[in-house]
Amino acid sequence: MNFNRVVIKVGSALVAPEGKGCSGKYLLAIARFITECHQAGKEVILVSSGSVAAGRQLIHHGSSNPSIVTKQAMASVGQMKMMANWQRFFDAPCSQLLITHGDLRDRQRYINIKNTLRILLENHVLPIVNENDTVATDELKVGDNDNLAALVALVCEADCLIILSDIDGLFDKDPRSNPDAILLPEISEITDDIYAMAGCTTNVIATGGMKTKIQAAEKAIENGIDTYIINGHRSDVFDLLLKGENPGTRFIASQAATKAKKHWLKHTLKSCGQVLLDKGAVNAVISKGASLLPSGINRVVGNFSAGASVDIIDSETGLAVAKGICQYSDRDLNKIIGLNSDKIESVLGFCPSKVIIHRDDMVVLNSHSKTSRA
Ligand code: GLU
Repeated sequence: MNFNRVVIKVGSALVAPEGKGCSGKYLLAIARFITECHQAGKEVILVSSGSVAAGRQLIHHGSSNPSIVTKQAMASVGQMKMMANWQRFFDAPCSQLLITHGDLRDRQRYINIKNTLRILLENHVLPIVNENDTVATDELKVGDNDNLAALVALVCEADCLIILSDIDGLFDKDPRSNPDAILLPEISEITDDIYAMAGCTTNVIATGGMKTKIQAAEKAIENGIDTYIINGHRSDVFDLLLKGENPGTRFIASQAATKAKKHWLKHTLKSCGQVLLDKGAVNAVISKGASLLPSGINRVVGNFSAGASVDIIDSETGLAVAKGICQYSDRDLNKIIGLNSDKIESVLGFCPSKVIIHRDDMVVLNSHSKTSRA
């Protein structure tokens, strides 16, 4: 798996298939995948639809397209069902966040959401986000959970967005009426042609569905977040994801956004400490594009918390070779330096990450001599 923090969006068709209320039919495989992500030290935020579908049978309505207020009542009762349905698959606690576009537009509320998510993740809780359908009017609504999931991925600075759909990915034409339709495995730029392909299907769910998924992918990749559209009806896709393979369509994160992040890391973020590496680790970081593992660190200098920026120093020369965001505080790091990553959990009792500084959170310095000595 090539990500550290992932937002997974699960649609109503998976949560409450066939309009018969909540079901575990598709959620079991998804929940198993989330648990495997947790075990590998990844952070997961779930964006789940399905409240309206789950509450549909519980609110009297005489029409195939109930009024907005009726749907809001369905969402209110269905949200409880949907949350209970998810919780039964996890030992870890689940938490509920109901938000609207109005909340994301308000700076203070945006920061509150961001901080709440951070603390939930630090406490190994699975946050489950949905739009607050009961209170949202059109002007305050995101309107669909694909775009909501992309916005959540931005708020929590995820490095991956996975949109689980009922179709294998994006095809060049509607696969249901064109048996020769080709699945597009990788897309690096979202153009009008891509939107046209998304709109070319005649299936009701897939038409609206694919368009909002492309909009979500566009938001995410512009901000450096890799995005996948994957078929959540197929349980084998999760094994492929766990192996680091792409079982659907991957939208590749923009390099420009990644460059902006690296620029911010290098020039704006103040270093709070230093980690000193042995020769092998220096080589892996500079020449092999590797993440930093505890086994290659031989000393830690300074007092810093998890998430702080640190200088990465070659202990032989004393020169800074890179800078990055450290996943552990100096206290915890001192207990695990020199160890194999598999030992982190048994020594600390937790393992938020098998790497100390992920490659994506690191910038290699071109001129090693310009930075401070350890
Ligand atoms: N918030 C809606 C629900 O929970 C779903 C919106 C969507 O799936 O895009 O039913």
